[in-house]
Amino acid sequence: MAHVIAIANQKGGVGKTTTAVNLAASLAIAERRTLLLDADPQGNATSGVGIAKETVELSLYESLVEGRSAADSILTIGALPYLSVLPATQDLVGAELQLVEREGREAILRHVLEGLQDSYDYIVVDCPPSLGLLTLNVLAAANAVLIPIQCEYYGLEGISQLLNTVRLVQQNFNPGLAISGVLLTMYDSRLNLCRQVAEDAKEYFGAKVFVTPIPRNVRLAEAPSFGKPILLYDVQSIGAKSYLAVTQELMRRVESPGPVEEATAPLPEVTA
Ligand code: ATP
Ligand code: MG
Repeated sequence: MAHVIAIANQKGGVGKTTTAVNLAASLAIAERRTLLLDADPQGNATSGVGIAKETVELSLYESLVEGRSAADSILTIGALPYLSVLPATQDLVGAELQLVEREGREAILRHVLEGLQDSYDYIVVDCPPSLGLLTLNVLAAANAVLIPIQCEYYGLEGISQLLNTVRLVQQNFNPGLAISGVLLTMYDSRLNLCRQVAEDAKEYFGAKVFVTPIPRNVRLAEAPSFGKPILLYDVQSIGAKSYLAVTQELMRRVESPGPVEEATAPLPEVTA
């Protein structure tokens, strides 16, 4: 059975897609069979791994709305043999509307993924910046949710709403859903504000906060315009090293679950 990990936060621009793409690529490098599932009509995860959206013929839309097998839409990435991609296009905007009237509308993605569970070790899902039906479908299909939090003013804004949604999904559709971790993104230890958000997140989430924060790193921001995960764009960058470290932490948490380690390590200085 695959570990299905939803990368979710309804706040826009907090690093969901950057995390989904780079986590998926890092898992693939670690030879875990990984599917990057793009559940956002913006299709940024799709283009972020080098798939031109205009060339996509079949996407998540056809599976969600038309019942087509997801296997028909899955693409592979030549440079990363362990990585597959289920792409998204703007069509997904329509899916959200078309599914509203369906019975069991929040469980449609779960059924789509049933046939894929044994083909992958991890399914990493990039969510849109909303708590609408698409995100609800992802949470209902996932084992775990990973929440990226941007280290900026209002970084924690909306988190209680997200946690309420997670709780509702746990109670009504998916009791197995866990919060696998909270990831601090665009972290800059030189900024007091940034350190404050990190402290608040740790106070609130304790050991669920990944020990490694993702620093603000220009190479991470550049990589998507080359259609490459950071590992293929600049493996020496602090961004690549940070995502590799987070991936190791995630694999430890998911593959050998035990008591979660206390997050006692100091936040590293950022030099990028
Ligand atoms: P949306 O809510 O629109 O889907 P998102 O949460 O997926 O956004 P991203 O697209 O991953 O966020 O990131 C927003 C922007 O910030 C992008 O331009 C991305 O390249 C940039 N970015 C993300 N993480 C970092 C980082 N650690 N350092 C520098 N830039 C970053
Ligand atoms: Mg995104």
